Amino acid sequence: MISVDVVIFGGGIAGLWTLAQLTNAGYNAVLLETDALGSGQTIKSQGIIHGGLKYALTGSISSAVAALQDMPTVWQQCLDGNGDINLSAAKVLSPCQHLWSVDRLTGGITTLFASNSLKSQVAVTAKEQWPSVMQFSAIQTKLYELAELVLDIPSVLHALSAPYKDRCVKIDANNFSVETGSGENILHVNAQVNGIGVQFKAQKYIFTAGSGNQLLTKHLAAAPAMQVRPLQMVLVKAKNLLPLYGHCVGLNTTPRMTITTHMAHDNVPVWYLGGKIAEEGVQRTAAEQIDQTKSELRAIFPGLDISAAEYATFFIDRAEAKQSDGTKPTTTTMFSENNYITAWPTKLALAPILAQQILDQLNADNVTPQSSTWDGSLPQAQIATPIWDQLL
Ligand code: FAD
Repeated sequence: MISVDVVIFGGGIAGLWTLAQLTNAGYNAVLLETDALGSGQTIKSQGIIHGGLKYALTGSISSAVAALQDMPTVWQQCLDGNGDINLSAAKVLSPCQHLWSVDRLTGGITTLFASNSLKSQVAVTAKEQWPSVMQFSAIQTKLYELAELVLDIPSVLHALSAPYKDRCVKIDANNFSVETGSGENILHVNAQVNGIGVQFKAQKYIFTAGSGNQLLTKHLAAAPAMQVRPLQMVLVKAKNLLPLYGHCVGLNTTPRMTITTHMAHDNVPVWYLGGKIAEEGVQRTAAEQIDQTKSELRAIFPGLDISAAEYATFFIDRAEAKQSDGTKPTTTTMFSENNYITAWPTKLALAPILAQQILDQLNADNVTPQSSTWDGSLPQAQIATPIWDQLL
């Protein structure tokens, strides 16, 4: 039996950031992971540290914009080694994103400038400074630069987990149970670690397992409801792809295509495509989705030769707390019941806020660090392989 202050379920961005934050605050915490660290949504995210500009396309300062507004600064402090968490070993793919349109009627873009608080984060990019790939684009508007970072997520996972790696324990996915006895509190967790039964006992249990939260909390007295919003994402790999990070916006508030660029293990660039193409793509087969991508890329970059490109698509759910109207929550969600907390960050960018909320909740519940020690001798969870190296 292992006794700790806190047991965290799930080693995505939410669980790992929480582990780092709580360990730094003196808690003896352990993270249990059934697969690899980041293997859910986190390794498949585009790595954009949103500041809310994309959401400001609606023309109003919504609560989503307000929640995200400070995140580029918070992350930059961590990347500089001056934040709550040291991410100085993580790699920045791009210090900014671009935004443009190939449609003539794009009222949304100009509304960005209507918002005073975000105005300072947007600039028009002079033509001499356009990314080289824009010479192939059918751009009809100015090219805007958004002060939003794009990060290399595998390196974020390495930087975030490295100091606490011995606390990230790989457990058998098919062989564990959360025990409550006849009461409402969790008594302990039974897990198999490399075929050996281990019982984990804690003052507080934290569920940050993304879509896994639903199953984990199913039998508990108070289980918050979850919703999923599906996507069919697309990967395009070709030697002649030039670096690009940004949104090609269309006539509505979801970007027509969000493009980030990543380097595969063989040093061939990969464009990773989200936005409307991925949201509407859930209705298509993989072959239809690839055809649609080719047609969209021809429309957005008519001058780009993509005849030698390789394509892959995959389905993935965004997992969040259930909303009555099924829309995306505007910020993090955390439910505290009995001796457990269930939480979803909603966006990777919001993980620092969620971890702070969890720490505040422990303080409010008088969960104080005890003197129990961690010997770190259990098998560790490894870091997930980037999705482009899994599929292409
Ligand atoms: P996850 O990353 O899903 O991690 C959950 C972890 O829990 C996994 O490692 C899983 O193996 C583990 N697990 C599951 N069940 C159990 C169990 N029973 N016991 C133990 N462990 C378990 N947000 C942004 O801010 N910027 C972006 O650019 C961005 N791009 C995105 C692109 C896509 C395609 C998607 C799907 C999402 C994107 N998001 C983005 C949202 C962001 O990725 C998620 O909000 C965030 O990664 C969720 O993190 P998480 O830790 O809650 O869950």
